[in-house]
Amino acid sequence: MAVYEFECRTCGERFELSMPISQHDRLKDDPPECPKCKGKQTHQVVSMFSCKAPSAY
Ligand SMILES: [Zn+2]
Repeated sequence: MAVYEFECRTCGERFELSMPISQHDRLKDDPPECPKCKGKQTHQVVSMFSCKAPSAY
């Protein structure tokens, strides 16, 4: 399981969702609904990936 962070374009709510990595690809076709306004205009927030890459490992 991995935790993904999402942001709602309708109300600005940010929420986290944990799901198997194998289901991550489905998000493009079937985005999760916002827990606050139940809207489907959500997109994933990518903030963690570019921070610390183990390049000097
Ligand atoms: Zn919302």
